[in-house]
Amino acid sequence: MENRRVRVRFAPSPTGPLHMGGVRTALYNYLFAKQNGGDFLLRVEDTDQTRFVPGAEAYIVEALAWCGFSPDEGIGAEDKLPGGGPHAPYRQSERKPMYRAFADQLLEAGHAYYAFDTPEDLDAVRERAKQAGNPNWQYNSITRTSMKNSLTLSEDEVQRRLDAGEAYVIRVKMPRNEEVKFEDRIRGWVSVNTLNLDDKVLLKGDGMPTYHLANVVDDYSMEITHVIRGEEWLPSAPLHVLLYRFFGWTQPEFAHLPLLLRPDGNGKLSKRDGDRLGFPVFPLNWNNQETGETASGYRERGFYPQAFVNMLAFLGWNPGTNQEIFSLEALIEAFNLNKVNKAGARFDFEKAKWFNQQHLRLLPESELLQAYIAEASNRGLEIPSEDFARRAMHLFMDRAEFIGDTLDPADYLFADPRSYDEAMVAKKWTAEAPTYLSDLDLLFAQTDYTEGPLEACFKNYLAEKGFGFGQVGPVLRLAIAGTTQGPSIFTVMELIGSEASHRRIQTAISTL
Ligand code: GLU
Repeated sequence: MENRRVRVRFAPSPTGPLHMGGVRTALYNYLFAKQNGGDFLLRVEDTDQTRFVPGAEAYIVEALAWCGFSPDEGIGAEDKLPGGGPHAPYRQSERKPMYRAFADQLLEAGHAYYAFDTPEDLDAVRERAKQAGNPNWQYNSITRTSMKNSLTLSEDEVQRRLDAGEAYVIRVKMPRNEEVKFEDRIRGWVSVNTLNLDDKVLLKGDGMPTYHLANVVDDYSMEITHVIRGEEWLPSAPLHVLLYRFFGWTQPEFAHLPLLLRPDGNGKLSKRDGDRLGFPVFPLNWNNQETGETASGYRERGFYPQAFVNMLAFLGWNPGTNQEIFSLEALIEAFNLNKVNKAGARFDFEKAKWFNQQHLRLLPESELLQAYIAEASNRGLEIPSEDFARRAMHLFMDRAEFIGDTLDPADYLFADPRSYDEAMVAKKWTAEAPTYLSDLDLLFAQTDYTEGPLEACFKNYLAEKGFGFGQVGPVLRLAIAGTTQGPSIFTVMELIGSEASHRRIQTAISTL
């Protein structure tokens, strides 16, 4: 075990868009693989055809690619290895013919059995149990003795039913009253008595395996050394441990990751919470062509993948130092699977935005500028020059969490104001306002149109006339920008130039 090459897998079921919790599971798998020089696989667990959603697999592949950690092997790695790798296919539905032999192996060894109970039989027995005060009837080591299966029926009868093509499933034969123990990397020792486990179906009559059989067989066949997955799979782990034992295989190491919790800490983070509180819980936008179901994503919300990934890494882990900003490479170095928290990780959208803000600042200026220009042209803004764009961007960069934040309040840099802040006009646009503006316009015309001289000129004017800043400043701002908020108005005037400034001042005088 110790000397085996580390191989981990992310094994989602394509039942819809990949939740950010799933992305975090994939990320932890990736980080663990890379820091151990191992392989990160993507396997698609689509045995439950009733829950299959077209487009979900492509979504998963695209989401991981956007995050920057595409698989080394499996689905989405077809460009790196023929067919995705030596264990192809990596879609369980396409592996269907392989599983029967493993179920047979368990049948022969007496660890599994045929069960012929019809859905009606099962409904009836459940209903009877419910009437008797037991709403949680299970097919288990006790109840199986009174059901229709190869443990209760004679060998001949079983054969007759099989020959007649009667519907059946293959169930695991849970040992009675045995402790199943394993050490989880995160949760420590986990111990469960088999009396609390049921005889899960392993293979359905149509030959399709269930999640449990397919998962264990594939992890073994694909030489997976560590199973890193969400806590919701912890209850399945004892069955998996038993299956490894029944097959005589070395079991992988297990690490069950904590849940992502709602911001208030009450329960699992769901799409509904995101909708209600106004944040995405998915990496990318999603649009189900068939059902019309949509969901919003971090990418489209303006997040940088590095920031999204950094934020996710911290949901359940931290480096134990003050450092919070990590690139993917730095996370590979610092991540420690053994230090992942047991307790659920509370999601905080404010913190997510903070991460984006920090990463925004780390981007090289050329990249920022590219994003800025792209976003500006998306909004139909006219950009006079790259130099103009750079200066305009920096005017609003300070507090920006998203590149869009630098443009939201900045329309007036690109075009004359179309309207004026009415409340401020009512408050500050006095009868003298046109006079201040005509005076200033004349003075500015004789000034070097750069920030310093413009400001000096303005201050001189105030001093000479004995005016207060609060009297004149807002008037000039309204004329130039339509609003009294924003960066230094002299910087703005320098940026838009003398012609535009003069025009705006004249327009304000004649229209306000
Ligand atoms: N197919 C399971 C899922 O959808 C995978 C669980 C596991 O990793 O074993 O999450």
